[in-house]
Amino acid sequence: MKKSVVSKEYQKLQKDIIRLQEQWKTSLDPDCIRPNHDKAAMEAGVPVTALAAIDFDISLFLQWIEDIGELLSKYQPELEKVMESIKKLLDEETAKRWIDEAFAFNHIYFASFAEENEVDEWIPQFLAETLLRPYLQLTAEKVQDEIQYGVHGAGCPVCGEPVRLAQLEDGGKKVLHCPRCLAHWHDKRITCSHCGNEDHETVQFLTIEGDAAAQIQVCEECKGYTKVIDTRQYIVKPTSAMLDLNTIHLDFVAQENGYKSAGETKQTN
Ligand SMILES: [Zn+2]
Ligand SMILES: [Zn+2]
Repeated sequence: MKKSVVSKEYQKLQKDIIRLQEQWKTSLDPDCIRPNHDKAAMEAGVPVTALAAIDFDISLFLQWIEDIGELLSKYQPELEKVMESIKKLLDEETAKRWIDEAFAFNHIYFASFAEENEVDEWIPQFLAETLLRPYLQLTAEKVQDEIQYGVHGAGCPVCGEPVRLAQLEDGGKKVLHCPRCLAHWHDKRITCSHCGNEDHETVQFLTIEGDAAAQIQVCEECKGYTKVIDTRQYIVKPTSAMLDLNTIHLDFVAQENGYKSAGETKQTN
């Protein structure tokens, strides 16, 4: 187990960011997102957020850029200037584009934005993804009651993030949790949550020495993995964003053993 791979400082920054996002979400007008309750699309695995209408508020966006800039500068003082210059680049059109491209995981757009504006490559996409999350989380809250099951292979039914985290709830039921939008949905305990494989010979559990509450479900069919955490004993349940961060050592174990958080698509004829 390589806990040391992730520095304490990185974990602390991530926790501060999660806290900021929780605050930001409360400043959103609940009516600014109108999900499209299209059952057929949901059953086909189209993430809810792909069809949701969002009233975008540029002043809020710029406030959040300022908040995250302040936080990042505490960890890396040289980022203060960079954040100032980025803020100047963000007019309403560009800010909206950021949200759209972050949703679409468009690495190419952000890489070229960084190059054109001479900022470090990781910064624009990281910022856009960070600022997108409160919108995703509000969407998830609004449709949570309608989300019972996901479509194997389609990732999170709300935001499309690949599956990687589950919690065991009453009776040992496996509930998948999305650390990105915080949606949750059910899946069968023994089923691979990536490809739907139910064969107990090829869906197995890796256990972690000294950590009885954690298992990694792995599938030999698609090479996907899911962290399965028994949180029934927890007195205070962390949010799934925190739980994902606190169990990041399990991702390293899984990946070192050749498994991925997004399973490979099965070849079907
Ligand atoms: Zn999600
Ligand atoms: Zn699988």
